[in-house]
Amino acid sequence: MALAFLFLLGAVVGSFVGALTWRWPRKISIRDGRSRCPHCKHVIGWYDNIPILSYLLLRGRCRACGKKIPKRDFFIEVGMALLFPIANSLLPKVGTNIAWSVGLPGWIILLFVFVMTTVLVAIFIIDLEHQYIPDSLVFGLLLLVIGLLAGTSNPMLFSYLAVGLGVSVFLLLLHLLTLGRGMGLGDVKLALALGTILGFPLAVVWMFSSFILGAILGLMLIAVGKAKFKQKIAFGPFMVAGFFMTLVFGFQILDKLFSVQ
Ligand SMILES: [Zn+2]
Repeated sequence: MALAFLFLLGAVVGSFVGALTWRWPRKISIRDGRSRCPHCKHVIGWYDNIPILSYLLLRGRCRACGKKIPKRDFFIEVGMALLFPIANSLLPKVGTNIAWSVGLPGWIILLFVFVMTTVLVAIFIIDLEHQYIPDSLVFGLLLLVIGLLAGTSNPMLFSYLAVGLGVSVFLLLLHLLTLGRGMGLGDVKLALALGTILGFPLAVVWMFSSFILGAILGLMLIAVGKAKFKQKIAFGPFMVAGFFMTLVFGFQILDKLFSVQ
């Protein structure tokens, strides 16, 4: 029951994320009425806009013109529908890895994890498709974290912020050293928010995981001839993936790294 509810909630939120990440980079307001078919501009009725289900019933085609609807929305909806129940079942692990959340009521942590997951998936998609990260998403997340940290009256608030700042400065140096080719300023700002959430030592594990993930995928793309050495690949998606990895397996990765004889 709870699982089905979280799946549906994830699908609905996924539908919103699909619209948001499509409209935002194109400067279309999110309040700008109903979604339209990208081919014939036909306004999509509510009955054809049901997350996951409509895409399957319409077999991925517009009811009016019969052309193919972009698959991205369907994948985002399915992805979020799976992520919410997964996040819920991993909550005890996530709770221990976000040390400052200990004093918070369970429902607030759950809500925070859902909001954070939603924002990070949106950042992942926009950076992947357009190679930039919207400031408002990053700073919205940062403000939320600072608010929660201050709300727990955690005496470590400033040390968490200092870690975020440290990771952010590290990426800024990389940005300057590579003349902006290795790291964007969006990544620098994202590091401030995510580094603050993780604190020390997990922020180090996170950076490590993000670079390893980036290197592995980069080498794979070069190997199959899809990318060249000097080609620019957005780093944000790796930061998000590495962050989720650290959030769940952070201390396990740390143990493995330092228990090697
Ligand atoms: Zn159409």
